[in-house]
Amino acid sequence: MKLRLKKNIKKSLLIFAGIFIVIIVAFSAFKMLNKPLIQFKKDYVKVEINESIDPASYIEKINGKYQLSDIQIDSSQVDIKKLGQYQIKYTLKDKEYDLPVEVVDTQKPEYKTKNLDIDLGMKVDISDIVSDIQDQTKTKAYFKKDYDFNKEGNQKVWVVVEDEAGNKTEKEVEVNIVKDEEKPELTGLHDLTVKVNGEVDYLSGLTAKDNRDPDPQIEVDSSQVDLSKAGTYTVKYTVKDRSGNENVFSRQIKVLKKVVTKAVPSSEEKIIYLTFDDGPSENTKKIIDILDKYNVKATFFVTGNGQKYNKYIKEAYEKGHTIGLHTYSHNYKEVYSSMDAYFDDLNKIGQMVKEQIGFVPKYIRFPGGSSNTKSAKYSKGLMTTLVSEVQNRGYQYYDWNADSTDAAGNNRPVSVIVKNATQSKAKNINLLMHDTAAKSTTVEALPKIIEHYQKLGYTFKGIDDTSFTPHHGVNN
Ligand SMILES: [Zn+2]
Repeated sequence: MKLRLKKNIKKSLLIFAGIFIVIIVAFSAFKMLNKPLIQFKKDYVKVEINESIDPASYIEKINGKYQLSDIQIDSSQVDIKKLGQYQIKYTLKDKEYDLPVEVVDTQKPEYKTKNLDIDLGMKVDISDIVSDIQDQTKTKAYFKKDYDFNKEGNQKVWVVVEDEAGNKTEKEVEVNIVKDEEKPELTGLHDLTVKVNGEVDYLSGLTAKDNRDPDPQIEVDSSQVDLSKAGTYTVKYTVKDRSGNENVFSRQIKVLKKVVTKAVPSSEEKIIYLTFDDGPSENTKKIIDILDKYNVKATFFVTGNGQKYNKYIKEAYEKGHTIGLHTYSHNYKEVYSSMDAYFDDLNKIGQMVKEQIGFVPKYIRFPGGSSNTKSAKYSKGLMTTLVSEVQNRGYQYYDWNADSTDAAGNNRPVSVIVKNATQSKAKNINLLMHDTAAKSTTVEALPKIIEHYQKLGYTFKGIDDTSFTPHHGVNN
């Protein structure tokens, strides 16, 4: 009985095991038959925006006897430049497999910041703080909190740059707010000069400065100026800083008559113009007396270097001689440093002479003559500008066509000076001589020079508007 029971149990177990094996085999066979032909590494692919996709690389395994070249891949749906979910279609043996692909942005924005130093009342713009944002998607920049920028002081604030995918980068910056009540300043307000109907740059030479604003604004009010009419006018300037502090300045503009003096050609008449440069000096009185004795007229081109003798300028003028301007300082380095420097100096000597004779003479002689090359050392091309500019401003310059050579050294022998001074055969002669303490031999030579030209029938004249105008020609 017992043995039989045992036998039965054994039999049943065998049957169960048999059934189990059959099920396993059947299931495996079913699975084998229904296996997908394409197996993917992942069933959901994430790709970083703007990177490239490689659909073939997502395949783990191809089942059966197929190869990659048997598969048709369509990834046209995927827009790698745009965040979103897409599908890649793989087709093999009329079977379609879809692989979901998501274009993502996992990178945080990068950017630069700078601290703000502004005035109370100025608008705070985040773009003044945040710059050079680097990210693959669109970003927005904003303040993390609603900060109060309407109060003085230094505060630390957080700025945020967020991209389309929601990635955020936060940074802390300082915003310093100062109440500015200081007015801006304006410098360089020297007088302007312009010819009638000329062009003028009202901002010429001006510099606006402020304690806070690096670029204060200058407003020009030239409504008082009439460029078509000679005269002296006032130009007003209002300088404003970024906080609205204002300061008002003004300067003079001189509109000059456009009197262009013209050079006069030589005439057929025998005329000699004796000219004495560099005076007045201790010799001026002696020269005047000799001219008086022979009853002849001459011209003195004076400087500001012998002002002790300035009364002789007046005396010479009252005796019918001509006074011309030769510069105040006679210092090449100064007078030829720029056009402005030359005219500043010319203005000075003009005023000095005016004190003696009541007006500013318009006859001038350039130190070294208009042909001098020394000026090039201080300002290239200056003489070219000056020769026309002096005439535009109503002056006329006189070089010479005869030279006593008394400038070649101090106290040159009288005979040498006479010889050189009496060589000219020109109809109109402008003779260069000098009037300084060191040129006493010029004074001694003078009677012989006068007698020579008197014998030849020359008239002695002081320079006037009808005098011929010797011009050397410019070398700078
Ligand atoms: Zn001189």
